[in-house]
Amino acid sequence: MNILQRIKCVFGHHERDRTRVRYCDDVFGSVCAGCGKRMVRRDRSWSVEQA
Ligand SMILES: [Zn+2]
Repeated sequence: MNILQRIKCVFGHHERDRTRVRYCDDVFGSVCAGCGKRMVRRDRSWSVEQA
């Protein structure tokens, strides 16, 4: 858990955890370094995966 990143999450700026990037189903997936939400890479940028 990254405290600085956690604060950014509160403001909606999530960032993927570089150490937990995985490739599956033709997309790169990871989790937010602050809050742990699932993230996916689309069009060269990362976004929180919508449930
Ligand atoms: Zn987050």
